[in-house]
Amino acid sequence: MSKTYKLSGALLVDADGERRSDLYLRDGKILSVGPVEQPFDEELKLDGLSLLPAFIDLHTHLRDPGLTYKEDMESGMRAALQGGYAHVCAMANTKPVIETPELVEANLRKASRLRLCRLTQAAAAGVGLKDETPTDREALSRVTKLLSNDGQTIFSDEFMRQLLLDSRSYGFLISTHCQPERKIVRRDLQLLALTGGRLHIGHISHRETLEAIRQAKAQGLRFSCEVTPHHLLGHDSAYRVNPPLRSLEDTRALLEGCRDGSIDCLSTDHAPHSPQDKAQGMAGISNIEYAFGVFWRLFQENGIPLSRLSQMASQTPARLLGRNAGLLRPGMDADLVVVDTKAVGVLREQEMVSRSHNTPFGGEKLLGRVLYTIVEGEIRYAYDGRAGL
Ligand SMILES: [Zn+2]
Repeated sequence: MSKTYKLSGALLVDADGERRSDLYLRDGKILSVGPVEQPFDEELKLDGLSLLPAFIDLHTHLRDPGLTYKEDMESGMRAALQGGYAHVCAMANTKPVIETPELVEANLRKASRLRLCRLTQAAAAGVGLKDETPTDREALSRVTKLLSNDGQTIFSDEFMRQLLLDSRSYGFLISTHCQPERKIVRRDLQLLALTGGRLHIGHISHRETLEAIRQAKAQGLRFSCEVTPHHLLGHDSAYRVNPPLRSLEDTRALLEGCRDGSIDCLSTDHAPHSPQDKAQGMAGISNIEYAFGVFWRLFQENGIPLSRLSQMASQTPARLLGRNAGLLRPGMDADLVVVDTKAVGVLREQEMVSRSHNTPFGGEKLLGRVLYTIVEGEIRYAYDGRAGL
């Protein structure tokens, strides 16, 4: 017998806006939203709290298989759930590189056994993450919606052109990594104008990149892009991430891009490393469990509403992945997050649940605390009352 759950008393926030209403769940879906009373089996009282669609991260590193001393699927997904994420897109730069349908399916099976987050396992666009020999994109597109060479920039124009054409034929989304950023983003936008295709520009960092994106959108080109918490918060720092942290002016421009809709998505690029690997200069930051606290603090400080955050962290990623999720509407998947938007926390690296604690942001103020993360109608994370995050 399936149960009906009533979530009462919360402020509902999604890309449609804010309203106070009850919400009912059944069979892993949103049954109804609104004042009409339904019979229910259990009630979760959420007075004073906000209820949003759970977050979807288009860019995560779980390091599984092969690099699990940095993170594994379970530790990464537990960190994601703590951060309010119900769905992560794991990058393919594992050992071995995820470049066959069998490897994608092995990770999907592992995720369904874990019953933590939903998983999109990205596959490599080129064998060995190189811009030389294409992977079997037709076969891969049957098991994943996302192709990416992740940290390896696609320098070959011909490789990129064919990848865009294949994304049209097979329907997958291409997530790019662009260094040098401005040059490669401009090249990709020119190619997109010629070929069409499904382009998603990964983790932009520079205000001039944002300008190129604004111009291309104004000319009617259709594509999406994302920004990370560290590129919105961090600047003038030698802490190693790719692309690097830029200037205060860049962070301000990127926040303006969030406000005006030029930037489509909030992604984390959660990139866990061991202390030894980090000491040897590997680029990356562990951030998925506190990403919301950074995003919401910066949005609040800059007068950007929570509904816009929800659009960028839930609705738009859901649309790009073809999911029936990301809004609080009847019939949508019951992937939800309950937050206390007023709770102030401080990031303490030693308390992080990710296997990796690499971050330069220890001691930073965080705004908003995730109290529950609900996936497929099940509470898979509940805040345990600790003082930290
Ligand atoms: Zn990455």
